[in-house]
Order: sequence, then structure tokens, then C-alpha cells
Amino acid sequence: MSVAITTVWAGYLISFTTVAEFTIIGGGVIGLSIARALHKRGARRITIIERGTCGREASWAAAGMLAPNAETEAIDDFYRLCSASNALYPQFAAELLEETGIDIELRQTGTLELAFDPAGAEHLAGKYERQTASNIDVERLSGENVLRLEPAVSEDVILGLHYPKDGHVENRKLVTALIAYARKNGIEIIENSEVRIENGQFRIAGPDLSSRDPEVIILAAGAWSSFIKPALSVKPIRGQVLEFDGGKGVLSRVIYGAGAYLVPRADGRILVGATSEDVGFVKEVTESGVRDLADAAVRTVPAIADLKMNDAWSGFRPFAPDGLPVIGEMDGMFVATGHYRNGILLAPVTAELVADKIINGTDSECFRYFSPDRQLFAVGS
Ligand SMILES: Cc1cc2nc3c(=O)[nH]c(=O)nc-3n(C[C@H](O)[C@H](O)[C@H](O)COP(=O)(O)OP(=O)(O)OC[C@H]3O[C@@H](n4cnc5c(N)ncnc54)[C@H](O)[C@@H]3O)c2cc1C
Repeated sequence: MSVAITTVWAGYLISFTTVAEFTIIGGGVIGLSIARALHKRGARRITIIERGTCGREASWAAAGMLAPNAETEAIDDFYRLCSASNALYPQFAAELLEETGIDIELRQTGTLELAFDPAGAEHLAGKYERQTASNIDVERLSGENVLRLEPAVSEDVILGLHYPKDGHVENRKLVTALIAYARKNGIEIIENSEVRIENGQFRIAGPDLSSRDPEVIILAAGAWSSFIKPALSVKPIRGQVLEFDGGKGVLSRVIYGAGAYLVPRADGRILVGATSEDVGFVKEVTESGVRDLADAAVRTVPAIADLKMNDAWSGFRPFAPDGLPVIGEMDGMFVATGHYRNGILLAPVTAELVADKIINGTDSECFRYFSPDRQLFAVGS
């Protein structure tokens, strides 16, 4: 089976792809965003096949931070991809509101990274130097100025870095909106059905046992992508998150604190995350995970100690060997996976790149930087 998108003349390509049958493996934020972007470009006969329930894996477990600036020290290809996606968010959120009536609660209120001891302050001071040398948008704040911005932070704070262009989104509302878009626009969603590729043949296991031969396949199976394409070597990195209730008005922006981050939600919930554990597909919340995150949250914002802990969960970040996303063609299918810690942030740009390539034949340097081939090299095959 060949996607045949690189060799066909662009005008002919449009008619081929818009009537083609598109099958997306995986209904997380990446697969759902790609389905919408394909549909908006005129594609029809789009099917999302999801092993469980759409949007309920990493995309549900995430904290929804959009933090391209806090997470980098240099302007490289990955930073440019993250920044481009961050810039797409206002339009993405506004369109989803208009299309589905769902507000994904985009807040571009910045991120604050804080230090509470001399070693932490030295680390942040060095980071500030490197970031300003790279022209990253960052402000250095004294402890006093941090407390002016966020009075609930511990008075032990001695230094802060403020990233005014970072923000956050309610990722569960985001996937809910993307599912609503799909349902409203005739994108078929088949849940509780697992795709397998056996001897090169596309198979669906589950209640819908139909045998298909889709013309365009997009692999967006997150941390499970290597079950379909072993050469990708994508593996799960578990993250645990705690949710506290009743924190309305306590914080107005994302805080990277003393060993945890805190993300405020519009309804007063505060998320605290996250662990980073290489433990395979063991979806557990552990006593030490909860304790370490809760202690770190209270050290950062003492008022957390009086809030009710509502919930705790874990999820699997899709991690490629070099930690970068994997976007591009491979063995006759399109791959969009390995988004690791930044899949919520990267969903809009990934969807645009993939849909533009498939529908319009538009090339991008990104397909070189984030090519699945570099994964093949990484594992030496
Ligand atoms: C604790 C935690 C916190 C995070 N915080 C952030 C954050 O603040 N900001 C940010 O940008 N990112 C964050 N991330 C990362 C982000 O959640 C992921 O990068 C992103 O959700 C990946 O999306 P995805 O669609 O590739 O994967 P998923 O959401 O996991 O979706 C993949 C889907 O594919 C399905 N699937 C798998 N195999 C098959 C198959 N064979 N057939 C059919 N379906 C299949 C799965 O059931 C799943 O629903 C966080 C992740 C975690 C775990």
C-alpha cells in the first residue's frame, strides 16, 4: 500500500486525496487534530480507529501547559516547532469555540519558574543567561516581584523567571471539542477497536471486525505506536498528576516550583504534576508519587495544604529515543507520534503540517528534522 503523496502532481493530488479513504490509528489529541485539519481541507471519508475511548490516554492525563519558552534554552528546530504551535493556539481555540461551542480555556497568562534555595537560584540565573543570549522571551524577577505577581507562592522564593508568552489550556475540553468536531462533520469514529498490521495487512480487532484497505493511513497511536511500527522505538514514560479542588483565585498562571508544576483551572481546580517514570505500561498512581508531588506543591504554594485532593491519575507520554516528535512518511503510512511532554502544545502545528502535506503536497523542513528515518538510524537498523 502506498500513500503516493510525494510523487503525484499537486492538482491531481487534491482530487486523489479528497476522495481517498483516510484512516487514522489513534484518537488522541494528535489523531483528532489531524482528522479535523484534513476535513477542513476538503477531505472526506475520514475514519479514526481507537483502541479504547477517544482522548482518554495521554491527552486526558496531561496538564495542558503550553510552555515552549520555559522548556528550552536555545532556539533550535524543536523550539521553532513548539513556538509555531503556540502561536496557532488563539485561532485554534476560537475556531473550536465557533465550530463546537466548547471553550478550551486557553489562557496565555505566562509561566513562572521559581527557585527557593541558593542552588536553585544559581541554576535559574544560568538558565536566564543562556536564554537571553538565545533571544528567548524571559524576564528575571526578584522574590519580591514574584510575590507581587503570585501572592500565594511561598515567601521562601528567592528568584523567578517569567515567560510571558507561555500559557495553558484545558486539554480535556480540547479533546472533547475535537471529538465534537468529528461527530458534527461526518468523521467516523470507531472505538474499542485496535488496529494491527499483520504481514503488511491492515486489520482491526474489536467489535468492528471489518477488513479494510485504506488508501491513506496515519499512525497517531501515541506511546503504543511501536506496536504497529517497531522501528519507531517509541516507549511510554509515565507521568502522575494530582488534582486539588477549591483553589479558585489562588494562582493565575502556571508555576514551575520546587519539584513540581502547578496548573490552575478556570473552575478552581489546581493540577500538580508530574512524575517522569520509565516503568512500561503500568498505569498506577503510587504512594511515593502522590507524596512527592504533594510535598513539592505545598513547598511551592503553602495554601495547597488546605485544599481537598480530588483525584490522581497517570498517563503515558510517547517518548522517541531522542525525545523529539516523529512526523513524516514511513513504509507507506504517515506517522505523527513521539510528542512526549509537549503533545498538547504541538497538536495544532502537527495537524497543519500533516494535513497540508497529505492534501496539498506541501513540504516542510520539519519532515526532515522530525523524520521517522532518523528513528531508524537511532536504533541502528
Ligand atoms: C502526566 C502527563 C502530563 C502532560 N502534560 C503535558 C502538558 O502540560 N503539555 C503538553 O503539551 N503535553 C503534555 N503531556 C504530553 C501529551 O499528553 C502527549 O504528548 C499527547 O497527549 C500525545 O497525544 P497522542 O494523541 O499522540 O497520544 P494519546 O493521547 O495517548 O493517544 C493515542 C491513542 O491511540 C490509541 N491507540 C494506541 N494503539 C492503538 C491501536 N493499535 N489501534 C487503535 N488505537 C490505538 C490509544 O488508545 C490512544 O487513545 C503530558 C503527558 C502526561 C502523561
